[in-house]
Order: sequence, then structure tokens, then C-alpha cells
Amino acid sequence: MNILVFLTTYIAMEGVTWCTHKFVMHGFLWNLHYDHHNKNKSKFMEKNDWFFVFFAIISMSLFYIGSTIESMEFLIYISLGILAYGISYVIVHEIIIHKRLFSNWTQKFFYFKALQKAHRKHHSHLGPEDGECFGMLWVPFHYFKEAYKNR
Ligand SMILES: [Zn+2]
Ligand SMILES: [Zn+2]
Repeated sequence: MNILVFLTTYIAMEGVTWCTHKFVMHGFLWNLHYDHHNKNKSKFMEKNDWFFVFFAIISMSLFYIGSTIESMEFLIYISLGILAYGISYVIVHEIIIHKRLFSNWTQKFFYFKALQKAHRKHHSHLGPEDGECFGMLWVPFHYFKEAYKNR
């Protein structure tokens, strides 16, 4: 049961991320996301990184409540689901796609290639309007099909 809560949270976070990205980051908090679309190569940290802090605080608070109130124990598994998604996000978005840690590696696995292509498409829009491909671990299906064919 706890595993189920964990997995459901993990999968739901992709939806939460999609909505946050589309409606918040490309909405009223565009000024924090702006520097992620208009990159300044010399800066290692971006204002955009505040979104990690935001989700980390949510995850930590849920963990805290879950571990202090017995009847709320399920919150621990929700918080771990958010944490696991956050880690995947850092690995996929920051390390694999934007190469913030190792600058010279190329991805050969078609799944990552598809994510990379879709995300490049997302970044081709420099303003907040009419963006596309807001998801991270799941993108429109044709990207997977194409990457699989060209693998
Ligand atoms: Zn964006
Ligand atoms: Zn990006």
C-alpha cells in the first residue's frame, strides 16, 4: 500500500510539474523561469533553481507531518515520491539535458534522446507564450517513436 502511494505520487508529479511549468513558471512566476529560457552561460545558478527549493520545502514539510502524527503516516510516502521525482528531474533535466555537470557527453538511449529533442523544442521559445512540451519524463509520443526509429 505504501509503495502504491509512493508510485502514484511519483507519476502524479509529472502532471504537477507539467501544470506548474505551464501555468506558474510560464505564468505569474515567469520572472524566475525567464533566465532558464535566456541562458547566461557564465552563471552556474539560475533563478529558475528556486523551484527546487519550493518543492523541497513541500516534500520536507509532508515528511515532518507524516513522521510526527501517526494517522498521517502516508504523507511520508508522498514526500518520498516527491523527493524521488525531484532527483529524477535533476538527473534528466539538469545533468542529461542541460549538461550542467559533465559538459561533453552524449546520450545514446532513445528515451533520453526523445526527451532532449522535446525539451529543445520547449527552449526554442524565448518568451512565456505559446510554449510546448512542458513535461519532463514524458513528452508527446511522436518524439519517442522518432527517436526509437533513429536509434
Ligand atoms: Zn519553460
Ligand atoms: Zn530546460
